[in-house]
Amino acid sequence: MWVGPPAIQVGRQQLSLTDPSPNFGPRRDGAVPDMVVIHYTAMKSAAAACRTLCNPDTEVSAHYLIAEDGTVMSLVAERMRAWHAGAGAWGAVIDVNSRSIGIELANNGVSPFAAAQMDALSTLLTGIKQRWAIRPERVIGHSDMAPGRKIDPGRRFDWKRLALEGHAVWPSASLSTGLAVSDAAFAEQAAQFGYVHTDSVQLLDAFRMRFRPWANCSLDGTDMAIITDLATCFPVDAPPITA
Ligand SMILES: [Zn+2]
Repeated sequence: MWVGPPAIQVGRQQLSLTDPSPNFGPRRDGAVPDMVVIHYTAMKSAAAACRTLCNPDTEVSAHYLIAEDGTVMSLVAERMRAWHAGAGAWGAVIDVNSRSIGIELANNGVSPFAAAQMDALSTLLTGIKQRWAIRPERVIGHSDMAPGRKIDPGRRFDWKRLALEGHAVWPSASLSTGLAVSDAAFAEQAAQFGYVHTDSVQLLDAFRMRFRPWANCSLDGTDMAIITDLATCFPVDAPPITA
């Protein structure tokens, strides 16, 4: 169930109960969302994050904010362009805000995500993906589209669970072995999956944050096998779903 946040007073402006954030605009060039970007708030509480995301002075927003207890706040209408992604890209998409729905999870950046919050995210994603025909491989983290600049939703976010529920992707259980290990080959496969070119350290860090969160060795055969599997199964330029 979607629950609006309490009415918010910002200066003399009383924001409405539904979609109260003033920080949005039209999606550019008639774009419709075909991606979801997941964030964490890195703030003390969901209430504090809500105030920030609804304050016109901050010029930041997201379509949804999910509190630790699973309360889902709709801050910007899905058809509008919220301001959550900033600089970055995924595949050929460079105006990620025009092409995505942004979801903020109330989290301080170091704590695990609460079960109720993950359950609410899963339910929310089911609806969003149906409404906009979004493929699971186009549900990404902020760190995926902005390596080196963003680290959310971070190492504690359970991407595997989302993938098991069909809301994201995860590498196959059986992976290739014996692949040549090189930064160039890794970058090439990463680009086919969607990562934009960046320096090799930032790219590996972004990839591992999501797919090997606790690995700390240098680039190895497991990284190569995972990214090759993802690039093969989920190429970023795959044709869209036809209804
Ligand atoms: Zn973010």
